[in-house]
Amino acid sequence: MAGDKAFLQFIQVKKTYDHRTLVVKDFNLEVAKGEFITLLGPSGSGKTTCLMMLAGFEDVTSGEILINGRQVTSIPPYERNIGMVFQQYALFPHMTIRENLAYPLKIRKQPRQAINAKVNEYLALVELQDFANRYPGQLSGGQRQRVALARALIFAPDIVLMDEPLGALDKKLREQMQFEIKRLHEQLGFTVIYVTHDQTEALTMSDRIAVFNQGIVQQCAPPHVLYERPANLFVADFIGESNKLSGRIEAVDDQEVSVRLSDGALVRARKANCTQVGQPTTVSVRPEKLTFTDRLGNAGNQVRARFLTSHYVGEYIRYHFATADGTELVVKNMNDSSAPRLEPQQEISLAWLPQDSQALDRPEAPTPS
Ligand code: ADP
Ligand code: MG
Repeated sequence: MAGDKAFLQFIQVKKTYDHRTLVVKDFNLEVAKGEFITLLGPSGSGKTTCLMMLAGFEDVTSGEILINGRQVTSIPPYERNIGMVFQQYALFPHMTIRENLAYPLKIRKQPRQAINAKVNEYLALVELQDFANRYPGQLSGGQRQRVALARALIFAPDIVLMDEPLGALDKKLREQMQFEIKRLHEQLGFTVIYVTHDQTEALTMSDRIAVFNQGIVQQCAPPHVLYERPANLFVADFIGESNKLSGRIEAVDDQEVSVRLSDGALVRARKANCTQVGQPTTVSVRPEKLTFTDRLGNAGNQVRARFLTSHYVGEYIRYHFATADGTELVVKNMNDSSAPRLEPQQEISLAWLPQDSQALDRPEAPTPS
């Protein structure tokens, strides 16, 4: 992290709306200046609540939020110097684009000359110079969101909060806007706290992602770490796709564990949150890391599986298999000369490298009553 002190800190932040249930249970996060942090998680997991507490629109039940080492809890929202973009553009419909952009500067009492210059600069930045005198209702969804973005940035906020800002746009436009937001972030260097439930969006845009579930951060790490070394089953499932093999820990060393799978095979996996001999575990392997043995030779782990079916996806082929105990496995193989031809029900070995799999804690299923 840049500098010795974090620019933004959440320390043991808790939130309840009804004085009974905590919707944010214990939120801790340190953000460096200029970082792009995403809060990712299912609906209702507490992401928006965290943004609202940072912005000052919701009280913190307990804990602290510091910006530049200074408690913000007693600072009113408009003095926190935070820009915001929401899914609904929240532009003023009765103001032109120019007036919408000028608004944050007007309320900050900047001189007219300076306001005009800034508005022109930001219109150019989001390439809407030709739309300055139109009203929001006369723009497309993507254009309106660019106005919202420019309006959130024009007063040079230290922190910009974006809550599902692209949620209302179609896929193509969303991807364009992701690129646009990244470009502005790199150009202007503000700090971003971005909220989304879309994992691809989070992976492509963020320096780090905090994965939320039920008011708790499950893991906070750069995209490749989350994807390649998920810390628990929730993260392995929520981000990307995972094959899951059940077994029990048989031996433990520094980095890896040995796992006896339910079909009797012994495999090795990276040690994650499951570290006791005898503990039930789920070995997770990404579909693109699981492969045909002729690719890996005898270097890795192996399981026997029956071929069920395959789907042609263009750049790759998805193969579906089942192990003897009925566990379904998916292999993603590039659509190249290595793509094998398999007969239905044909039994083969699938392989992967130990370091491409994690042994994750698997709560034992409650015994049916
Ligand atoms: P997310 O943004 O991850 O979807 P939220 O922070 O909006 O989650 O909500 C977390 C939980 O808090 C949910 O159970 C939601 O119903 C509840 N909640 C959110 N806002 C309020 C509010 N203003 N009053 C009462 N409960 C709320
Ligand atoms: Mg939300």
